Amino acid sequence: MSSPLGNVGLLIRNLVGEVGERIIVLLLESKEALSDEEIAEKLGLRINDVRKALYDLVKLGFVTYRRVTRRESYWHSYKWYTNEMMIAQAVLRRKREVLKKLMQRLEFEKENVFYVCPLDGSRYSFDEAFENYFRCPRCGSDLVEIDNRKIIENLERLIEKLRREIEQDEKALSSRPV
Ligand SMILES: [Zn+2]
Repeated sequence: MSSPLGNVGLLIRNLVGEVGERIIVLLLESKEALSDEEIAEKLGLRINDVRKALYDLVKLGFVTYRRVTRRESYWHSYKWYTNEMMIAQAVLRRKREVLKKLMQRLEFEKENVFYVCPLDGSRYSFDEAFENYFRCPRCGSDLVEIDNRKIIENLERLIEKLRREIEQDEKALSSRPV
């Protein structure tokens, strides 16, 4: 299913779900900041679902808010808004986090040898395999060393792709008028 937010829409939907994505689209289209109630009404959603999604969106930096005080009641309410710049930066931040995780995983794969049980497919580190005399603790089969070169190659490819993407995003962001 394609997203009204284009390429980054899928990433955003994975992060904040369909409700979060719909809120972002609504706020981008809206000329003014909107309250929780207005968002819920316009999208036909329950207020609690909207608040939960907004909480995630703020945490990830996709939207922000302005506090409004109603003079007569001293009651605070919040008006939510976003813009393309805010979204682009939140997406970039997320990509950097993913890149960091991939690099840690790559390091881990490179530094470790793994063993697998040919019968039940359970996977063990070298230490675990060693402690069990290279036999599967579940079924007693001889463990086989895993060739993880494919995993390493895939990780390296993903890392390279993400690095290039981040570079392009950074360039696009820095050349954008504020
Ligand atoms: Zn086994």
